[in-house]
Amino acid sequence: MPLPRIALAGFMLESNGHSPVATEAEFEALGYFGGNALAEDLAKPNPRASATMIGFVEGMNGGRAWTLVPIAAAQGGASGPVDQTFFEEVLERLETGLKAAMPLDGVFLSLHGAATATGDFDPDATVLRLVRSIVGPDVPIIGTLDLHANVSQAMVDLADALVAYLTNPHVDMRERGRECAAIMRAMLGGMRPKSAFVKLPLIPPSITQNTKSGPYADIIRYGQSKLDHEILNVSICSGFTLGDTPKNGMTVTVTARTSAERAREVAFDIATTCWADRRRYVPKMTSLEEVTAMALAAGRDVKKPALLFADVADNPGGGGRGNTTWILGAFHKAGAEGVLLGIFNDPALAAEAHDKGKGAAFTARFNRDEADQFSKPFTAEATVEALHDGNVVGRRGVVAGRSLRYGKTALLKVGGVRVVVISIRQQCCDPVAFEMFGLDIAKARSVIVKSRGHFRAGFDEFFADGNIVEVDVPGLTTPVLSRVPYRNLPRPIFPLDPDASWTPT
Ligand SMILES: [Zn+2]
Repeated sequence: MPLPRIALAGFMLESNGHSPVATEAEFEALGYFGGNALAEDLAKPNPRASATMIGFVEGMNGGRAWTLVPIAAAQGGASGPVDQTFFEEVLERLETGLKAAMPLDGVFLSLHGAATATGDFDPDATVLRLVRSIVGPDVPIIGTLDLHANVSQAMVDLADALVAYLTNPHVDMRERGRECAAIMRAMLGGMRPKSAFVKLPLIPPSITQNTKSGPYADIIRYGQSKLDHEILNVSICSGFTLGDTPKNGMTVTVTARTSAERAREVAFDIATTCWADRRRYVPKMTSLEEVTAMALAAGRDVKKPALLFADVADNPGGGGRGNTTWILGAFHKAGAEGVLLGIFNDPALAAEAHDKGKGAAFTARFNRDEADQFSKPFTAEATVEALHDGNVVGRRGVVAGRSLRYGKTALLKVGGVRVVVISIRQQCCDPVAFEMFGLDIAKARSVIVKSRGHFRAGFDEFFADGNIVEVDVPGLTTPVLSRVPYRNLPRPIFPLDPDASWTPT
């Protein structure tokens, strides 16, 4: 019997509707692979490829022999809408690769699900449509989705199964990849699953979507309680609220082994339960004035617990530029001591620090090249304490075990604040961002992270939930949705329209 030939491809981008256009350079920096490069990467001990793809390969390798057919993967992290010309280049690469690889027995796609392109509101569906048009109606197409995916009916119709993460922070990406491998095996054996899809007019603010506790934890748990001999997968995507697309909204996708009707029943039941709970999704943040006082107090009294301040409005993992200076400026001005800040994206400043060298004192000009309205300039006297090439391996949390590239990186001491300055924009979700310089996070009095929530899976060994403070400052990823200048959102939608209604149809 010939070995099953399974193609692997990826397109991952979370598009903030108000962030600058995502360019090819950003994809190149975070992982843009052709077929051979993808196969080479996946064979390494610490790949850069998505954890879902790694998990899928692990899952398939756990069973009978198969032939891995690597096609291409484009990983863009979170940014604005992808440049249409570059997106079409990715499509062309996928098309050429898939056509050359035929015949195929299955396709695994690592998707994010919340991408937009400058000329396409649903590029994830466009990728799926392309793949379907090449492999035909009978070849299984199974994909993973981020829990923040803005899922469309078209995406569900074009795939055989879409499997979303169950955790936020996303610590189950590998596991979901392995789940897709199990579904792929079952489909190779003849199973043809049926899916149902429900979208709610609900966009829960980002920081209300943690899965440890709260309304989203409850609905995820409720969804999983529906799994049985017939219900194969329940994916409840909170959606990416900052996506600003006509397809925004929380979704329930249920995949059944055989019965479309059972899938529909379960999907409507979960959606109804979720809708009834919508008023619990309320963000709670602390003002800059209050957190500055808290940082000063923590710096003065080592008997007080150390605090972690999350700059949730400037989360590069949601399209933030990773360089706003409200917290840095306030803490510096107030004279806070024992503060670590990571990770500040400023390639020009990092390069200047590398030119000046370790030990140099200079006037650091943050954001000299920035155009975004929230990325204000900030100037202060600084010392270059250490330099790094920015190549590290994630230690803990959502990027554990994966190779990361921060680009040229510098540790600057700015008054009582030590700032880690990087050159490839990304969020601070792993302690390695500080530990790469030998910094002991346990000895810091305050740690500022530019991250919305993924830091929780990396920094939990240093900070209990009660010592984490979400700061209310302006930014591209603010959880205060009334401040977001939406243009394309379907209205009415909750909570922007408190009286928005929904009835199961
Ligand atoms: Zn996500």
